[in-house]
Amino acid sequence: MYKEAINRYLIRSGHQCIRLKAVLFDMDGILFDSMPYHADAWAQVMKRHGLDLTREEAFLHEGRTGKATVNLVYQRQYGKDAPEELIQEIYREKCDVFNRYPEPSAMPGAGELLDKVKAAGLIPVLVTGSGQHTLLDRLDRQYPGIFAPGHTVTAFDVKHGKPDPEPYLMGLQKAGVRANEAFVVENAPIGVQAGHAAGIFTIAANTGPLDGQTLLNAGADLLFPSMQALCDAWEDIVRETDTAGV
Ligand code: MG
Repeated sequence: MYKEAINRYLIRSGHQCIRLKAVLFDMDGILFDSMPYHADAWAQVMKRHGLDLTREEAFLHEGRTGKATVNLVYQRQYGKDAPEELIQEIYREKCDVFNRYPEPSAMPGAGELLDKVKAAGLIPVLVTGSGQHTLLDRLDRQYPGIFAPGHTVTAFDVKHGKPDPEPYLMGLQKAGVRANEAFVVENAPIGVQAGHAAGIFTIAANTGPLDGQTLLNAGADLLFPSMQALCDAWEDIVRETDTAGV
């Protein structure tokens, strides 16, 4: 049932097969149910500074770095780049607002999937555009022993955030694997674009309010309605991956 998507990927990428060795996980909306708080915080702080970003639109831009998000909205309104100090100020305020919300819960199904990945001897890699220390610090508490220190890519590592492929290419590099030796697991259109552009088989879990078609249009190879649904289908996807191609 997943073979068609896998074969489409193989044709598109020119690879003969997928030899799964690593799984590259986005964080917000995948490992933590944090996106509603992020979207609220963005909308609130932008408004405070006279900038228009609705909560709904914040979901569409999820995955961009804080700087890119501020700049995009500022550009749209004023036709020029946002001053660096303003970018810093808004991002700091946004993080403050976010941190006043209750701790986001773990995404249902994420822990179970991470355990399956780890148990199968695959390398879990974190690839996030986030630079929020509160969540990054919490990763190890919530998912102890899953992500090795060298196997994380955050806002502090990359020059170009998603949708640029750089974060996922760096994730491959850190895991020591090639594009056809990994999956990407993403919930945001921009993150899906980044995984697709990196030449990696990209699985979307639609954990937010967007239309699933948005994720398919962004280049998702497979689409699931939740992390739990992806977790439940995991063995089947891996099995069909192992037997697809030549
Ligand atoms: Mg996300």
